[in-house]
Amino acid sequence: MTPSGVRLVTERGVPGDLPIWTHPEWEERFPWLAQGVTSGGAGTAPFDLGLFGATPVGEALARWRRLREGTGFAAIAHSRQVHENRILVHERRPAAGLLVAEGYDGHLTAAPGLLLTASVADCVPVSVIDAETRAVAVVHAGWRGVVGQIMEGAIGMLLAEGARTAASIWVHCGPAICGDCYEVGPEVHKAVYAGREPPAGPTPIDLRAALAERAVSAGVAPAQVSTSTHCTRCGTGGFFSHRGGSPSRQMAFVGIRDPG
Ligand SMILES: [Zn+2]
Repeated sequence: MTPSGVRLVTERGVPGDLPIWTHPEWEERFPWLAQGVTSGGAGTAPFDLGLFGATPVGEALARWRRLREGTGFAAIAHSRQVHENRILVHERRPAAGLLVAEGYDGHLTAAPGLLLTASVADCVPVSVIDAETRAVAVVHAGWRGVVGQIMEGAIGMLLAEGARTAASIWVHCGPAICGDCYEVGPEVHKAVYAGREPPAGPTPIDLRAALAERAVSAGVAPAQVSTSTHCTRCGTGGFFSHRGGSPSRQMAFVGIRDPG
């Protein structure tokens, strides 16, 4: 169950030919922040940003460039993800262009001008921001990432400087497969909800609700935690769904706008 006080948010499509959706409340509250997610778009070719599948890499790279330029960022970071919990810290903005790392499921930075991305197509993209220090992170959380506490890892890293509380932390769980569509075996329920009695057979699980509960347990105020209403599998947002048979990938992104 989603903890009480956690906000349900519907990302809005941004007008224009770049298929991106943004968090309307964060957009208003944090003008220094860029945060959102891409979708398949309305073009004849889907806006597939997957770099590690069957998509011709030249086509994907052209879309990455559109994403980078369309959001106004000089540099953009991504990684081949491995369903683990390592987070790459970008101490400074890299050279302009696309940086592709290996083996990280999350990124974190306080450097303006660098857009961080996480690839998803049913798994949950989680954006974590520190509104006080203006540092941001995005992580990819499938059930293994949830169990591996990758989101809690990002929160901990954002708070590491000084013994600060989570009072300035905001968390958003973006478009992902919903709690009706994502059926998994009892072993997944057992891993995600350790200590609770798992169901007897395959049963849907709501990973965003589990993440919201974990964010609140980590000290984030429920009013500063939000989960998207979009489902990649049964929704109408045009998002790619792995369970729905799509090999394509959308990107959740978060970054600090460069004032200069
Ligand atoms: Zn659904």
